[in-house]
Amino acid sequence: MTEERNNSNGKFTKKINGILIDPLIFTYKSYCSCVGDCCYHGVYTDYKEYQYILSIQDKIKEIMDETQSRDVESWFEAPQKDDDFESGIAVGTEVINGKCTFLDKNGLCSLQKLALKEGEFKWKHKPLYCVLFPLTVFEGVLSIDTEDNGEIPYCKNGSKTGLTFYEAYTEELKHLFGDDGFLELENYREEYLKEINVGVNENVDK
Ligand code: SF4
Ligand code: SF4
Repeated sequence: MTEERNNSNGKFTKKINGILIDPLIFTYKSYCSCVGDCCYHGVYTDYKEYQYILSIQDKIKEIMDETQSRDVESWFEAPQKDDDFESGIAVGTEVINGKCTFLDKNGLCSLQKLALKEGEFKWKHKPLYCVLFPLTVFEGVLSIDTEDNGEIPYCKNGSKTGLTFYEAYTEELKHLFGDDGFLELENYREEYLKEINVGVNENVDK
């Protein structure tokens, strides 16, 4: 589904699958190169993802280690209204022992570990916002989670990778939009770069 319209501040015009696109992702260099320190802060899941995780709680508990809580009641914060989530409700994961409740002592996500153990697609059990980060959807706009386009405070080890966010996060963007939506994003990128007079193979650093 595609439509062209301005969001509330009129800044973005391209919409794919109901999400507006911040073209910054086409030009801003990815800095994400550490091993996932963002997982120490937890994540917001969609209410449906929260319910899904609860439905597989026994399997998750089996692969948790002694630094993680097997008390399901302690895994999540209270649900809250948030229109950036498909169901309109977001549920944050709790921070336990200084890390997301699903992060094990080796810095691995138990949800991803479980999927791999089962021979399933690696992101089968993983919340969408974990897959996307530091890309994010905020107030209906796909953009980069930065503070004034600087790095996120806990991305201490992050350094510029030489690739734009679009180039570095192709798999994640396909996961978000599906093949057709990604193709549309690709076409929008070409149009946008032509408009600002940059070749598709040229990286732009901002
Ligand atoms: S650089 Fe930042 S976003 Fe990337 S894995 Fe590290 S903490 Fe997470
Ligand atoms: S659910 Fe997994 S990927 Fe997401 S923040 Fe927690 S440990 Fe990290």
